Amino acid sequence: MSKKPQLTTTAGNPVGDNQNSITAGPRGPVLLQDYQLIEKLAHQNRERIPERTVHAKGWGAYGTLTITGDISKYTKASVLQKGAKTDLLLRFSTVAGEMGAADAERDVRGFAIKFYTKEGNWDLVGNNTPVFFVRDPYKFPDFIHTQKRHPKSNLRSPTAMWDFWSLSPESLHQVTILMSDRGLPTDVRHINGYGSHTFSFINAKNERFWVKFHFKTMQGHKHWTNSEATQIVGRTRESTQEDLFNSVEKGEFPKWKMQVQIMPETDAGKHWYNPFDLTKVWPHGDYPPIDIGVLELNRNAENYFAEIEQAAFSPSNIVPGIGFSPDKMLQARIFSYADAHRYRLGTHYEQLPVNAARCPVHHYHKDGPMRFFEQKAGNVDAYYEPNSVSGSAEQDARYNEPVLKIDGNADRYSHRDGNDDYRQVTALFNLFDAAQKDRLYLNIAEAMWSVPEAIVERQMEHFAKVHPDYAKGVRAALEKMTRAKASETAQQQKMPHGVQAAE
Ligand code: NDP
Repeated sequence: MSKKPQLTTTAGNPVGDNQNSITAGPRGPVLLQDYQLIEKLAHQNRERIPERTVHAKGWGAYGTLTITGDISKYTKASVLQKGAKTDLLLRFSTVAGEMGAADAERDVRGFAIKFYTKEGNWDLVGNNTPVFFVRDPYKFPDFIHTQKRHPKSNLRSPTAMWDFWSLSPESLHQVTILMSDRGLPTDVRHINGYGSHTFSFINAKNERFWVKFHFKTMQGHKHWTNSEATQIVGRTRESTQEDLFNSVEKGEFPKWKMQVQIMPETDAGKHWYNPFDLTKVWPHGDYPPIDIGVLELNRNAENYFAEIEQAAFSPSNIVPGIGFSPDKMLQARIFSYADAHRYRLGTHYEQLPVNAARCPVHHYHKDGPMRFFEQKAGNVDAYYEPNSVSGSAEQDARYNEPVLKIDGNADRYSHRDGNDDYRQVTALFNLFDAAQKDRLYLNIAEAMWSVPEAIVERQMEHFAKVHPDYAKGVRAALEKMTRAKASETAQQQKMPHGVQAAE
């Protein structure tokens, strides 16, 4: 038998018996002095942290990004220079489901990457779709409420979803992707990832370009129909975790081709679409994707809770050579993601091993709950800045971004007036073949089945503006479902009590 280490308390004191509580006599009661019993129960009460309000169910692995293309004329970011190889963590997720939700559900998949660069962490926190449901962050909490449970019934509410979507035409692009084949992937090795927002590149001459990031799956796309997914969920609720974990464990490392689309800074005002609008893509015809490297996942976490659950991604983490853009949703996420982690994990979440930068970190955020890291370097007298001792200070003006020209009066501008929310959805609809369109109609009909007619009709007007066939197809699928449900009910009424009609 192998010699096991001596069990101890959390303070390191040896434990002599981990099987029997200390009691007064063999039948009890237990004594308060049994500290190890109390410690075990108290710790158990604290073993969960608040789950993420969105993207609670997740799956992740470590890997590497290898850059093979030369984009040095656009960015000075060392992580993106030809030949650079950077360690990373990638966490995938569903958006709406809670931590125990089944994996094979129709939902957007989160695609959040933390690159551990020598210039600090770069977090690209995107999805498997290039667009999103809303373009103004003012609407984000409202949208998320429609995805969560009804306050009274505690059930998900298709009525709330379609009510909100039908009143928010900017959602149509994302809704169409969600209801298409790509809305229910078999797993996360077979999805694309998109940075989604527009970011900026800054080159060595301090010139700015706008940029979109794409990760194209090299495993191909694979999807389930709704009925296939129902069978999968009946068999296992953890289909994605099983697929990703086992692939990496077996050495079948999934890969994605990394691409960028680059827009010169002054092009931003030249198109019918706002390039900072998260509900729009940049058509490839306008800005062709450029291959720049390969992302590979090749190592599982040793401890899911410590490394995947406690992983904290925030688009606020950028490196020199990569900057933000005026995208309103990005601006809000820069605040709200870091803030979510402060609440979920605590003040010093960035110092947890999975989140800690792999380069020297010098700042003045000293105290606060769970201050667990050492004061590694520097003078203990340097706890404020400026100081005349050896505390860290800004050293290099090259880290400042070029000036960004902004104009306009402060106001609450309508983000809906004069915005064409249909044209790019039409382009997408035209990419689908007949079978893909039929599945789109069926998926929507199934999702809309219980929704009041007035809401359905309001949504039909949006589908018709994309393409008359879109509205016609959904209407026909809904009518077919109505007939099928009516005949099912009639069959059941004819059966003796307690007998179900066969399929
Ligand atoms: P392109 O034909 O050049 O590009 C089409 C894009 O659509 C490809 O990136 C392709 O991804 C993706 N695509 C194909 N089928 C689906 C699907 N079922 N669901 C979601 N995406 C799909 O045309 P445009 O660039 O002009 O774009 C046309 C429309 O394609 C857009 O309006 C948008 O809806 C959609 N799209 C565009 C993207 C872009 O960045 N331009 C990105 C993703 C979607 P893949 O290469 O992996 O097959």
